[in-house]
Amino acid sequence: MSNYLFSKTAYIKGVQCDKHLYLYKHHYKLQDPLDPETKAKFKGGHDFEDAYRAANFPFAVDIEKIAKNRNDYQSLTQKVLQKQVADVFEATFVYQEVLVMNDVLTRSSGKWEIQEIKNSLELKPTHIQDIALQYFVTKGALGQELDAKLVLNDGANAYNIIDVTAEVKALQDIIAANIQRFKNILGQGSIPQINIGSQCEVPYKCSFFGYCHKSL
Ligand code: SF4
Repeated sequence: MSNYLFSKTAYIKGVQCDKHLYLYKHHYKLQDPLDPETKAKFKGGHDFEDAYRAANFPFAVDIEKIAKNRNDYQSLTQKVLQKQVADVFEATFVYQEVLVMNDVLTRSSGKWEIQEIKNSLELKPTHIQDIALQYFVTKGALGQELDAKLVLNDGANAYNIIDVTAEVKALQDIIAANIQRFKNILGQGSIPQINIGSQCEVPYKCSFFGYCHKSL
């Protein structure tokens, strides 16, 4: 997948901090190593996602499982959609040089819906940012309106499914502006000069925290 400039992961880092975005794209190896707590959190997230998908979409096509490598994801998604498949995992789209992969893309009553699965007990602003970008790119690539839902952990071995279509639609102009701004940042010839501050640990501890704080 060489036809994109940045992914959803990079976009979310850019929402946190311009420098975070730039370092992630141009100096990836300067990131802090993952600590055991973060690794466990990632694993918990994957397990939650797998359980939800297996329980709710037993016949879905999983792009990750049928692809030989990540370069195939986008073209395989197109092939699967042409076959009128109703449920797809890791459906992959590029629009305006931004790449997203939907946890779930499902068709209901002739309309597509994207779902983002988060092993979280509460709805957080960053969840909305995440699915709002997916909405922007997926809608642009498919050329049609969508619905958007977040799947959270209800704390009782079930799922709290929240329709956030109205919220993500309201953010679409901001998403478009951010994409353009992030392209400009990435095109700069040097690391943005950003002072460390409260953004370094909100909403998550920055993966370049050690790099930026080492000279203090
Ligand atoms: S540590 Fe802080 S200043 Fe440095 S890239 Fe991360 S968020 Fe930005």
